[in-house]
Amino acid sequence: MTARSVPELSAAQKTELSELFGEYVNLDKRDRHYYNHDIGALPPLVKKVIGNTDPAAVVKIRTEEDAVKLLEFANRHKVPVVPRAGASSGYGGVIPTKGGIVADVTLLDKIISIDPEGQKAVVQSGLIWEKLERKLKEKGLSVRAIPSSAPSSTIGGWLAQSGAGYGSYEFGWGYESMENARVVLPNGKIRDFSGPELKKLIGTMGTTGIISEITLKVQKLEERKAVSASFPDASAMKKAVETIRKNNIPLWSISFLNPEWADMKNKSPQKLHYGKVVDKHRPVLPVAYVCTFMYPASRDVSGLKEAIESAGGTVLPEEIAKHETEEWFKSMKVKRLGPSFIPAEILVPLEKMDSAFEEIEKRIKLPVLTEGMVISDGNVVLLCFMRHSERSLLFNTAFALSLSILKIAEENGGRA
Ligand SMILES: Cc1cc2nc3c(=O)[nH]c(=O)nc-3n(C[C@H](O)[C@H](O)[C@H](O)COP(=O)(O)OP(=O)(O)OC[C@H]3O[C@@H](n4cnc5c(N)ncnc54)[C@H](O)[C@@H]3O)c2cc1C
Repeated sequence: MTARSVPELSAAQKTELSELFGEYVNLDKRDRHYYNHDIGALPPLVKKVIGNTDPAAVVKIRTEEDAVKLLEFANRHKVPVVPRAGASSGYGGVIPTKGGIVADVTLLDKIISIDPEGQKAVVQSGLIWEKLERKLKEKGLSVRAIPSSAPSSTIGGWLAQSGAGYGSYEFGWGYESMENARVVLPNGKIRDFSGPELKKLIGTMGTTGIISEITLKVQKLEERKAVSASFPDASAMKKAVETIRKNNIPLWSISFLNPEWADMKNKSPQKLHYGKVVDKHRPVLPVAYVCTFMYPASRDVSGLKEAIESAGGTVLPEEIAKHETEEWFKSMKVKRLGPSFIPAEILVPLEKMDSAFEEIEKRIKLPVLTEGMVISDGNVVLLCFMRHSERSLLFNTAFALSLSILKIAEENGGRA
């Protein structure tokens, strides 16, 4: 949180930090090295320009008081601090480009309270989404919106990074389901950000301090149903979504895969349990745009099938919809097909979604695996992944393709 570069701490600073945090400080050179990247991989040429990205120390934060102590220490000694949660963002926000201290918040993961009546949950920021959803379920509740990286990403990471996910068709951006965030500011003081003020934290990527606690709005758990459909192209899929929006068909979530992603899913290794294949009857997806529409079973969604078919789509067998929703949080599989991948996350207005896909296909000379989610405000988030190998020389140039995808978003009225 300061600009000064601190590749190593002095002996006195190391002693002070160890006295403050005991076994939760890691000063080991080899261990620190593991904290120099996130889920993506930086190309060697970029690494050369940035220089050393190993932190001088890693501190595991377990409580809000820990965060206060750490930021007071950092202030006293003018040492930069970079918060790190699930490290699933892939855009370098957790990389300590100026050394200093990585504040690992993954142990700041307690559920403070769940209020079934008021439909609220107060959680520490480093809690993993999947864990929260499991606990809510025990109390007959469910989150309102959730990122597809839920098995490894955190509540605080979604606020600091900003994003949309499953459920965003009904409930909007992730932060719109958050009511309050407690933040330990860089000067060590604690401040609450509520309601519209929460916007001040969106996309700040750890620069406003360490988010310690978040109050989330949750909803009653309801049985959900899903319909999956294939579309010959992105224009047909767009048309179906536009009709659904126009006719106010009350869906909870609209998410989709492009043909490259559907193909990857078909080719991905089968699930094994003690060496035995356990998903022998995995349904094969059509290599097309595959869109899944999900809604609470109690809602009247008549008109959905007509919207799909009149746009040129085909409703897929129920087993595909079931499988697709069970697979929701398994998009990390993309990592297994790597060895590395180049991420690009963009936002485009729904009316430009098809032209963005067309341009990506025309201008990006690598297969781009894309999953997307439609947001209540009429925008669409596209999470794009290009498989590559960071050990290859070509990785340096291929990495620039993510910038080309961002440019395509801008040309289509969108943004990164
Ligand atoms: C396969 C895959 C699927 C994905 N799906 C989605 C999706 O559906 N929707 C979506 O929006 N994104 C998605 N992402 C991107 C990523 O998972 C999200 O951005 C996620 O919210 C990041 O959370 P994290 O806990 O991993 O944060 P990190 O990656 O650890 O951190 C992200 C940024 O937030 C800051 N930060 C983290 N915690 C704190 C804290 N407590 N206080 C202050 N700053 C903090 C960090 O410094 C960093 O700048 C996906 C990524 C992958 C690889």
